[in-house]
Amino acid sequence: MQTHQYDVVIVGAGGAGMRAALESSGKVRTAVISKLYPTRSHTGAAQGGMCAALANVEEDNWEWHTFDTVKGGDYLVDQDAAEIMAKEAIDAVLDLERMGLPFNRTPEGKIDQRRFGGHTRNHGEAAVRRSCYAADRTGHMILQTLYQNCVKQDVEFFNEFYVLDLITDHDLAAEDVPDGETVNATGVVAYDLATGEIHVFQAKAIIFATGGAGKIFKTTSNAHTLTGDGMALAYRRGLPLEDMEFFQFHPTGLAGLGILLSEAARGEGGILRNGEGERFMERYAPTIKDLAPRDIVARSMANEVREGRGAGPDKDYVLLDLTHLEPAHIDAKLPDITEFARTYLGIEPYTEPVPVYPTAHYAMGGIPTNVGGEVLRDGHNVVRGLYAAGEVACVSVHGSNRLGTNSLLDINVFGKRAGRQAAAYAATAEYRELPENPAAAVISQLDEMRNRPDGERVADVRKALQETMDANAQVFRTGESLNQALSDIRTLQDRYRKVSVQDKGRLFNTDLLEAIELGFLLDIAEVTVIAAINRKESRGGHYREDFPDRDDANYMLHTMAYRRPTAAGDTADGHVEGYFDHVEEFDSYKIVLGSKPVTQTRYEPMERKY
Ligand SMILES: Cc1cc2nc3c(=O)[nH]c(=O)nc-3n(C[C@H](O)[C@H](O)[C@H](O)COP(=O)(O)OP(=O)(O)OC[C@H]3O[C@@H](n4cnc5c(N)ncnc54)[C@H](O)[C@@H]3O)c2cc1C
Repeated sequence: MQTHQYDVVIVGAGGAGMRAALESSGKVRTAVISKLYPTRSHTGAAQGGMCAALANVEEDNWEWHTFDTVKGGDYLVDQDAAEIMAKEAIDAVLDLERMGLPFNRTPEGKIDQRRFGGHTRNHGEAAVRRSCYAADRTGHMILQTLYQNCVKQDVEFFNEFYVLDLITDHDLAAEDVPDGETVNATGVVAYDLATGEIHVFQAKAIIFATGGAGKIFKTTSNAHTLTGDGMALAYRRGLPLEDMEFFQFHPTGLAGLGILLSEAARGEGGILRNGEGERFMERYAPTIKDLAPRDIVARSMANEVREGRGAGPDKDYVLLDLTHLEPAHIDAKLPDITEFARTYLGIEPYTEPVPVYPTAHYAMGGIPTNVGGEVLRDGHNVVRGLYAAGEVACVSVHGSNRLGTNSLLDINVFGKRAGRQAAAYAATAEYRELPENPAAAVISQLDEMRNRPDGERVADVRKALQETMDANAQVFRTGESLNQALSDIRTLQDRYRKVSVQDKGRLFNTDLLEAIELGFLLDIAEVTVIAAINRKESRGGHYREDFPDRDDANYMLHTMAYRRPTAAGDTADGHVEGYFDHVEEFDSYKIVLGSKPVTQTRYEPMERKY
């Protein structure tokens, strides 16, 4: 076992992690730990753009952007956070420009901007051009630019190191810590894929930037590695997860595959049609049609299919029509995604419409933080020295539905804020003592998994999980379907305890790590489903057919889900505010659902129409 000491340790080398590293590495000793080589992080797969009210091509301002974000999130957005994001967006784009990011340009040489769903002029009058982009490779350019700047700044990376535990001085999963008493994060435990060796990192400040959890679903735009590690590690240590019931289904995944075709396709003029050739979004969102927010478009598509107006031999998808666009325009603005249609479906987008269907895309929920990136251990107390930013976090700027291009923005704005705060804190804080055997739990978990005789296979359990989530917790949900998912997950948790790996070795044992990641997926799916069962209303990405209306009187609250030992009291953390009154009990633990108020500043909730 090796030990290291850094002022700031950042877990994750995607956009959020590297943006944070650029803030802290010049000031204090900083390490970035990443299970992937940095430029393989999912940020690099982002296509369409990053928004900011630059007003380079038409009138715009940050207040309209704030409003759109709040309305897009179906009013579950914390409005103070959304305002910060929309204001700081402009500098976030200019920072990237200064670092060398090659944005597409207008003929006058300004950063070009295009339309994206839910972004409007003057509170919904018409779609506005707010998204800055680099063809349909915006995320790739952001990730490469940030990485190059990290290299220039001598940031220390530990690549292909998997963080498998978070160390705090109080184990919130097991003990009650009174309100006001401090809890400190002190380090992380990591596994080096190349050697199988365990490394303990002691740190004054830790930033989680581990990305999303889309692999709980079968049909998803997310990479194989998006297994919710950071969320699960915090949750297992007794920290809450916020708003996990809200998962975004992106309208245009390639049918049957889930591979993403960016909303930029519609931003550039693409049209959705049903099997009868009808532009059906005119019925669902008469003003902005195909550029309505994703929750609305995804539901409309699924509804067309359910009502028998789908396309194809089984009428089980709809069509994204780009055939009226000039091929030169397609090549200039959408080169990668049109190539995906050719490669994976054998469709020529110049002349044929592309089969599409909603695909699991983005976790609105995650580890709760304040606007400085500090992690909350309940409704208001922070964990000292612990920060989270990016898709793993819930600030909450996306509420119950994120607008397209607001995530690349979120990772830059809140990655920067978390990096700054963590560095400032670490500059004055002391190292805190680690427990005697900080890696004991990880070592015994790995040994047990490695030494288990023949048992269940990881791939089988994972497949069954993803199938039940697709069937029962997707665009349309009911109490019955969600309870089915929960009972399936319970069975799969049992099967997981018998999972064994074939590779018993130490070097590059990806088999072993996939088994560990499956454990994260099961925990995240479980809490997602329980939160969804409990929210008996429809809002944003969470649509309950048995409760089709939004219910502000009872549910204008963030969900806070805590995992606690069965023996603990239901108010294990002593100060869960505004209970939803739901406790789900299993053999060795229970999940307690509390809530947190939504911060409203200037916008009163209204009915959401587009
Ligand atoms: C196909 C696709 C297209 C998208 N297009 C857009 C778009 O156009 N505009 C937009 O705004 N958003 C888009 N999004 C969403 C956006 O890209 C992501 O939400 C965002 O990039 C997430 O960034 P991140 O830094 O939080 O995480 P990621 O970029 O996913 O990085 C996570 C990092 O954490 C590390 N990590 C994870 N677990 C561990 C562990 N246990 N130990 C160590 N390291 C770990 C990984 O190695 C990785 O470096 C898209 C998403 C997808 C999937």
